[in-house]
Amino acid sequence: MFSIFIFVIGACIGSFLNVCIYRIPSGESIIFPHSRCRCGAQIPWYLNIPLLSWLFLRGKAHCCGRSIPARYFIVEFLTATLFVMVFAMSDSLSNFIIGSGFCSLLLVIAFIDIDTMEIYDIMSVGGMFIGFVISLFFPEWHDEQLGISSLIKSLSGACLGSGLIFWIAVIGEMMFKREAIGSGDVKLLGTIGAFLGWKGCLFSIFGGCLISTLIFLPLLLIWKLIKTKTFTIPREIPFAPILVIGSITYVLYGQNLLGMLF
Ligand SMILES: [Zn+2]
Repeated sequence: MFSIFIFVIGACIGSFLNVCIYRIPSGESIIFPHSRCRCGAQIPWYLNIPLLSWLFLRGKAHCCGRSIPARYFIVEFLTATLFVMVFAMSDSLSNFIIGSGFCSLLLVIAFIDIDTMEIYDIMSVGGMFIGFVISLFFPEWHDEQLGISSLIKSLSGACLGSGLIFWIAVIGEMMFKREAIGSGDVKLLGTIGAFLGWKGCLFSIFGGCLISTLIFLPLLLIWKLIKTKTFTIPREIPFAPILVIGSITYVLYGQNLLGMLF
């Protein structure tokens, strides 16, 4: 029963994440003004209920009939589901809040990267510093007793994560003769390291690549079978979603997965 409550909270947060995803790249405030349709009409609260409104309106705006992208619904549903999953894995309230907050940040970063091929410093560098502070004051997040040992885990994770991806980027550039991994990804790995430590960083890079390949390769092949002529593999693939898939998997199942390997 309680998980329904968590799901509803997650859907509401997901609705806010949608606002962040659309407004942060254009530099708009994420708090004001209230939600507006692209035709300019204000959206009343009863048509702005997470998940339900989109289903009820069948993806069409009430005011002008413009289609509302399914992505609004997907982000809300994804956030709500993640909240329930993080809640099930958390052994304390603080770990649930940190875990679900971190996943929310990652979702915003991933979707903005898909849209704009950019990772904003305010989220990556800002997120890293929040990660340090949280590690200091909530050592149980890193399975530690003392704030200082938890902070060391966080700092070493940020250094190793950024350092490792930096050298992967350097080698990639030498091999492919063009920038393969951007500096935004280096900073994002700093954020991931600050929250998940060095093990989490390694998992996010290699586990993320593996899981993404397993998910997207079959989809690409199916897509290619359906639309042989129109499909071309994009020259640039946003890397943040891959890292985010790895990180979220680590938040949820990292301990179990590492336990199976070692
Ligand atoms: Zn409208």
